[in-house]
Formats: sequence, structure tokens, C-alpha cells
Amino acid sequence: MPETGPKSQDEPQELERTSGIMRITGVSPEIEERALEFWKQKFDQQELHEAEREKTPEEARIIEAILARLPKFVSMYGGNPVPLKMENIHIVDLDNLSAESRKIIGEKKGLYDLNSQSVAIFSDCNNDKLVDVFHNISHELIHFSAFDSLMPYTTLEKDGSAKTGLIHRIRGFSIITTSGDKTEFYFKDLDEAVTEELTLRFIDKYFTSDSLLVQDDYFTKIMNMMGEKNTQPIRFDLGLTDAETYVMMTSAGSTYDRERTELWKLILNVKEKNSDKFESPEDIFNIFAKKYFTGNALALARLIEKIYGKDSFRKLGEKTKAK
Ligand SMILES: [Zn+2]
Repeated sequence: MPETGPKSQDEPQELERTSGIMRITGVSPEIEERALEFWKQKFDQQELHEAEREKTPEEARIIEAILARLPKFVSMYGGNPVPLKMENIHIVDLDNLSAESRKIIGEKKGLYDLNSQSVAIFSDCNNDKLVDVFHNISHELIHFSAFDSLMPYTTLEKDGSAKTGLIHRIRGFSIITTSGDKTEFYFKDLDEAVTEELTLRFIDKYFTSDSLLVQDDYFTKIMNMMGEKNTQPIRFDLGLTDAETYVMMTSAGSTYDRERTELWKLILNVKEKNSDKFESPEDIFNIFAKKYFTGNALALARLIEKIYGKDSFRKLGEKTKAK
């Protein structure tokens, strides 16, 4: 269970969350208030995309089941749940997209879109398995529920005029910096690793042991399909003990294996160097998860710098930035 001690002063105050965006930094309180209202409108007014198709009854059931359980899961890790509705999730049919758009999407199964405050799941009618749709929706909605703040970003137009908009500042585990035209996403690999690990915990906690769902033929079928995928659990070459292997084995058809391996190497190394302080690797994962949901990196940065020395947290961000 994640630690839920008294909140320190460093921790952001919890405001009512009305969209994916929690704060706007580097602006006056008045502008922040107006901007948050702007994102709320975007969040509330969901428009249908031209390539979007109706959700099938099975997909709608999956989404309802996820939405009913996600807020509790997010709160458990100290996060502030997004008031997500069915309308914020869009199933986009790949067959309805142009070849150019399909090329941009590439291997992506879904994405959280800041501008439309929605999640798009890319569906290919011929190949989609519901189990994958279930997994992908959970993964993207966890991204949506992560801490998310924006900052002003000014670009120079061709005519010399300046244009200011908002871009991500902190998103889940990522920290974004800009310099001129260059934008860097630090910790991006860890952001995906933590998202995926949380997705696996979400599925494991609520869908493999929920008696309502276990009695439900449909979800039993999904879980059996996931079980089949797991007959060959991914065993990374980390010299894990059986207890530690648990965390790697809940991989219900998981993605981001490279990023997750890096995360677990780091966690196990921290554990080794602090064996008196942490009982299990999960205690350390919970510190990563807390940063993901609260945006507050202080506890984690202190831990990393205590072990690896001054500036090592920044270096970790550099090493795991988006390529
Ligand atoms: Zn992702």
C-alpha cells in the first residue's frame, strides 16, 4: 500500500480537478483560473472525430468498468482523479484515417490528447482483441489521471511577432523544458514505465479479484485470455528473487518492456543500497508512483541523490529523456 503520511508543505495543494490539467505555472493566479476554466470547457465539450466510430456494447462495458474503479486507484497513490466520462474516450478506426495519418500514428495503440482533453484508442477491426482494447484504454486513462501542469511557451512567427501558448510543464513522470525552438521531455521513458506498471496493478487489483467481475462470463473470458498470454512470463535478466519476480509477472500482455526493465533495475539497485529502509521493491515503486500522481519529485530526488550523488536525479532525467 502506498505511503499516505501527512502532507508536507512542498506538496501541491489539492484543487478540485475539472480536466486533465491541474495547474498552470509561470502566470498570475487570474490567468491560471481563466486557463483552467478554458481546459474544463474543452474537457466537457467532447466533439466526435470524423474517423471515430461508435463504441461496441462490449467496449462500452469495458470503459464503464474501468471508469467506475479508476478514481479509487488514483486516490490510493495520492493522486487527484479526473472526472472522466464515456465521452472522453474515442475509438478511432484506423481504416477511416488517411495513409499519412496512419503513418504518424505508427505502432501507437492509443494516446492522451491535451488539446481535445480526450483519449483516442486506435482500433483495427480485423485485428483488435478486446483484451488489448481493455489494456490500452486502462493505460491511456492512467496517463490522463497523472499530474499535469502547463506553462507558457512563446514562439516567434515569421513576421517577427511573438505568439504565446501553453505547453506541458510536468506530465506524470516527465518534466518538459524549452529553449528556443527545442523542447525536451526529460524522464519520458520512466513516465511510460510507471504508466505501464500502474496499468498492470490496476488490472491485477480490480479485474482479477473483483467478485462481481469474476462472476461475469465476459470478464472471465478476458482474464483467461490475459492468463494465456502469461504462460510465458517475461523474465528479465535481473537476477530477481521469486518475490521480486511477482512485479515482473503481472505483465498482462504488457508493453514498454525496455523502459520497465530500466525502471526495475533502478528500483532493485535502490533497494540493495537501502535494504534497511525498504521492505520490498514495491515500497520504492510507490515513491515513483507518488511523484507520477502529485508532480512532487522531492522525496524521489532526495533518495536518488543520497545514493548516486549530487546532480544524479537530473542526469537520470537526461538519460531517460525522449529520443
Ligand atoms: Zn503510454
